[in-house]
Amino acid sequence: MSRLIRELRTSAPSDEIITAEGWVRTKRDSKTVCFIEVNDGSCLKGLQVVADKERFDGELLGSVTTGCSVACSGHLVASQGASQEVELSAETIQVIGKADDTYPLQKKRHTLEYLREIAHLRPRTNTIGAVARVRSTMAYAVHRFFQENGFYYVNTPLITASDCEGAGQMFQVTTLDLDNVPKGENGKVDYSKDFFGKKANLTVSGQLEGETYATALRNIYTFGPTFRAEDSNTKRHLAEFWMIEPEMSFCTLEGDMKIAEDFLKYIFRYTLEHCSEDMNFFSAFVEPGISDTIRHVVDSPFVHMTYTDAIKELEKNKDRFDYKPFWGCDIQTEHERFLSEEICKCPVIVTDYPKEIKSFYMKLNEDGKTVRAMDVLVPRLGEIIGGSEREYRLDILTRRMKDLGLKEEDYWWYLDLRRYGTVPHAGFGLGFERAVQYVTGMQNIRDVIPYPRAVNQAEF
Ligand code: ATP
Ligand code: MN
Repeated sequence: MSRLIRELRTSAPSDEIITAEGWVRTKRDSKTVCFIEVNDGSCLKGLQVVADKERFDGELLGSVTTGCSVACSGHLVASQGASQEVELSAETIQVIGKADDTYPLQKKRHTLEYLREIAHLRPRTNTIGAVARVRSTMAYAVHRFFQENGFYYVNTPLITASDCEGAGQMFQVTTLDLDNVPKGENGKVDYSKDFFGKKANLTVSGQLEGETYATALRNIYTFGPTFRAEDSNTKRHLAEFWMIEPEMSFCTLEGDMKIAEDFLKYIFRYTLEHCSEDMNFFSAFVEPGISDTIRHVVDSPFVHMTYTDAIKELEKNKDRFDYKPFWGCDIQTEHERFLSEEICKCPVIVTDYPKEIKSFYMKLNEDGKTVRAMDVLVPRLGEIIGGSEREYRLDILTRRMKDLGLKEEDYWWYLDLRRYGTVPHAGFGLGFERAVQYVTGMQNIRDVIPYPRAVNQAEF
């Protein structure tokens, strides 16, 4: 394997003949030489290749165009230019694959909206290339954090027949012929004829299955695709996104919040340390000063606030909101942002929400009104993490389910965890794309996943 541009760019000048492979970003001519910027995506900046016009056939140099792939051999010399230490003094240039002037990524700047239409080519741009590298690094940091801290990686199912969590609108999975659906005597669809013998959906969360492994291996995490048929068109929702869901046994809400904070800080710090060139790019061209902002987040404690106190703060400022806050309301994105951006000016963990607006499995507080839930809210985005201590007392859990009209027999295996050796346990879910969005400063979640899925968007 020949060397990556990332390595060549930081190598010392030498007489050794080396080969640089990649795609041409730009070509610039002077009277005597031709400057070709070759980038292989291994890092943000390309390698400058200098071709002496006397040495090369004019036709060959003419076929070196933006977007074509090349292999250039020569030796590294100290560069005259200010923007790089070394450049490649070319002895041979081979055009591997041509790109004519219909190549959509010519030199001019393109809008992110336009780039979404050519999502198969957009990783060849600076911005989307940088996002892809940061995303990869963050995914690695996620695994490192958990593996270093005694967590096992568990793969929960993507297709589920338990319509449990109610966390979002589900996508149905079926092999029934939709033009000729089998119906029972009552006129309803006969799912016994469907692939699984019952109605099935794509998962909206692996939490319930995650709990079964946490109550066996103690600390586990999932990291996989999640599907929600969100029909809202927002900058922070996807129909297909990646979620990280740790679950810890012998752990209460306090431990849960501590791990959430340590975890976020770990992946943020890891990214700052390992993606400095890309982070400098985001700071300069995407979100001014984002590196410093993230550095500050890593170095300061998160603020804690109960839901009740948060509502008090919001009510004091109620004129600023479209949706008027009151005790019992679901906290809206505008409220979440206000709390983190204006009240706390940093990430804030809001706890103890009214039970009516949270899921059945969250542990009921002594007051009988609120549950041990926590959301981590951050500036610009609002909610990035949602978690809770789980209700581990069988009697209280079944009473809650009854109040909500949930059938015990649908949750028989989940309730077994409370029947056999129940323990306090807790966990949370982090939307991976929200984390990438937060770190890079990218405005729209559709630009931090290679192929976004949203309402009316499933191209590629
Ligand atoms: P929101 O209120 O922002 O829609 P939620 O409360 O429905 O989120 P949870 O069910 O708590 O979300 O999911 C856990 C985490 O998954 C969220 O904190 C968020 O980071 C992420 N998430 C949820 N829905 C989406 C989505 N449609 N696209 C991307 N990430 C999401
Ligand atoms: Mn949530």
